[in-house]
Parts: sequence; C-alpha cells; structure tokens
Amino acid sequence: MSSSHARRLFSSRLRNARMSQGNTFITLSDEPAEVPEGPLHGVVLGIKDNFAVEGMRMTCASRILDSYTAPFDATAVSRLKSAGCMILGKNNMDEFACGSSGENSAYGPALNPLLPGRVAGGSSSGSAASVAEGLADAAMGSDTGGSVRCPSAYCSVIGLKPTYGRVSRYGLVDLSMSLEGPAPMAAWGAELTLARMMDAVSGPDARDQTTAFSTRTDAERRIDSFEPRATKVILVQNAVEQCSAEVAGAFERAISFLAERGVSIERRRMSSLRLALPAYYLLMYSEFASAMQRFDGLKYGRRGAGFTPAEAMADARSLLGPEVRRRILLGTYVTSREGWSTWYERALSAREQVSAELTSMLQECDYIAMPTMPAAPFALGERASDPVSMYAADILTVPANLSGIPAGTLPVGTGTGLQLLAGRNGDESIIAAMHFFNREGWKWRRE
Ligand code: GLN
Repeated sequence: MSSSHARRLFSSRLRNARMSQGNTFITLSDEPAEVPEGPLHGVVLGIKDNFAVEGMRMTCASRILDSYTAPFDATAVSRLKSAGCMILGKNNMDEFACGSSGENSAYGPALNPLLPGRVAGGSSSGSAASVAEGLADAAMGSDTGGSVRCPSAYCSVIGLKPTYGRVSRYGLVDLSMSLEGPAPMAAWGAELTLARMMDAVSGPDARDQTTAFSTRTDAERRIDSFEPRATKVILVQNAVEQCSAEVAGAFERAISFLAERGVSIERRRMSSLRLALPAYYLLMYSEFASAMQRFDGLKYGRRGAGFTPAEAMADARSLLGPEVRRRILLGTYVTSREGWSTWYERALSAREQVSAELTSMLQECDYIAMPTMPAAPFALGERASDPVSMYAADILTVPANLSGIPAGTLPVGTGTGLQLLAGRNGDESIIAAMHFFNREGWKWRRE
C-alpha cells in the first residue's frame, strides 16, 4: 500500500468513526503526517484508553483523568507505530479496566455492533466493537482477567492474551500488575495481522523488568505450523457444563471441526476451576487498591482548586465510579491485618493450585480448550446493579491470568468464542490454531 493510499484509507475510517453511533472511541486522532513502512504498514488501529499515546488524551474512561494528556508513548504503542500502524483513536472501556461489559465507562457503554441492545463485553469494549464495526482493522487492549477475550468473544473477533511478561506493560495504567498485559485483537480472518502485532510488541523492554527474560514471538513465520494429526487438545468438561446450551453447542461444533481433521481430543475435569474466580477477585482487588493510591487528588484530578490534601483526596474519590470505589475498599480490607491471612494468603495459595493444575495438564497436551464466556452477551443494564453476577462471567477467562499462560479466543458463533490455552510462550501456536480454522474454511456464522 502506498503512503498516500494509507492516508486516504485512514481519512475515510476517521469519517466513519466520527459518524458512528457505537460509542467505541473516547478520543479520535488527527490525520497522521506520515505512515512508516513496516510489517503493519497501513493497519488502522484502535488503542484502549489505558495506554499512553504521546500528546493524546488518556482517560481510562474515568472522570478523574478527563483532561489528562499522556506525555509519552507506551512501549507497545511506540512499537506498533514503528511497525507502520496508524492510530485511529483511543477506545472506550470500563473505567480503569474494571468490568466485563463496558458499562462502567464514565462515557457510556460501547455498543455491540452484532447484537443490538446487548453489551459489547469488557473491559476492552470499544476495542473489540470498533474492530467488529469495521472502523479499526485491529486493536490493542489489555487483559487482566479476560478483558480482551471477553469482548472479542462477544463481538466475534479474535483476541490473544499473551504469556505474562512477554509484552511490556510500560505506559499501560495498572489494574492488577501481576495478572495483566497488553493484548492484541483483530477481525476474524486477520490472524496474520494479530501475528505481526505480537511480533512487533513482544520482547524485552528495559522499562518493564518482568520482560527481562522475554523473547520476541515469531508468529508470522509460524502461522502455518498447526499440524492437526500431531495435536492433542484437553477439553475442560466442567467448564463446558457451566455454559448455556447455546454456548456449549457452538463450542462442541468447533471441537468436532478439529476432531474431524485429526486432532485428538480428551475430556477432563479441572478440579481447581472453582477456586479461580475468588482467587482472581481477591488478588486483583488488593493490587488495584495499591495501584490506585496515586489518585490521591494531588497528582491527578482537579488540582489547584484550593483544596486541602484531605479535601483533594475526597474530591478525587468522588470522581471515581462505584465499581472502582468498591474495588479500592475491598482491596484495602483484604490486605489489612484483619483480612490478610483469611483472604489474601488463601487467594495466593488458590492461585498456585490453579496454576499447577493447568501446568500439569499442559504437559500432556498442546492446548486446553474451553468456551471463552459461559453465556452469550447479556442485555445492557441487566447486570449493572449486581456486581457478583457480572464477576461470574469471568469464570473461564481468569485461570490463564492466574497462571500467566497465553490464551486466545476465536469466534464460534455470534457473540460466542472458543478459548485455547497453551503453555508458557505458546503464543504463536495459539495464533497458528486460529489460522488453521480459517484456512480450513471454518464458518462461525450459521447459514
Ligand atoms: N472482568 C474482569 C474484571 O472486572 C477483567 C478485567 C480485565 O481483564 N481488565 O476485573
């Protein structure tokens, strides 16, 4: 693609994004001055609004950062720019990435373009929905407990949560630092773009020590490496049993598609699955409460309004939404002297059990398969007043975050995803599996 063609494409996407009713962007970019050559030349990208993009507003969908401009690029962002991507804008999301529906955004929910009246998933709601709507070709979200896989499944796009520590978190605003990382998404059929995004963003970064031993992915070169007859998948039967009939049916159809092509499938129960959700929420609350200490009203918020420090803190907290405040309170309790051994330490040991069970299963197979979300997207507003029912939707995505292994989702129905987990650094093999489905003519929409 010539540079002028790329710029014309960008202008037309920008026009469409301005006219869209989908609420998938909080801030749109200006026209790019130049488009660098590179493996992702001309790819129009949405960036979740919790990544710093130099000179652009970064709100994390919170009123507290409504007028904040990022002074530098997140590492993932600068690497995508150098690879040739054009950033269309900053995507809508749940406030500080807290949520599974997009409804916790201070800017209103992003809408699901495939299923009117239904949530787009979260927290990377606008990222998935803008791809599904055809505004962006691909997007960079973040996944702490499913925030890329959930909206990818609900909007029928592909998404990958990479191995923890493989992609730098520098410039990504923390929700829970031991669980999360940047995570790419792309339209169904665009596995090559997903592969190239991973190749661009992965690898060591001196600004994030968790990447010190990381290696770059080689996903583009290995995109055709899925060999069905040499592949074994363990299917988590008790995960499927938690799902609606519609989700279980779509999932089984995808599993038969693999089996018919020679993949060996074994059904197993995962006994630690019931521990995953409480462990995730307790640890995430704790880390989030700590990360949010910086929002004390002095560094961010309505500075200079003549407040005393105590008033500034109260003012700052008043700018945060109810879910964010709930999590700060719970995290403070869990890590208090009172809550520590009852909740925090037990959550750490539950995390170990989940991780150990997944690791041992992965010694016997190439992939673990389960549905991505237990049910199709719920109606807007349906779970907004019941946080626990919202949390329940994350049951199948949080295990991968607890153990740091990669997990990807591909569409198996409208609003439904198949989730594949692989061993540490198996990111490329997940993309190759997605590509195999595409190459073999997988139709996720029923005719
Ligand atoms: N839905 C989960 C939560 O609310 C996951 C969030 C995420 O991955 N950022 O915490």
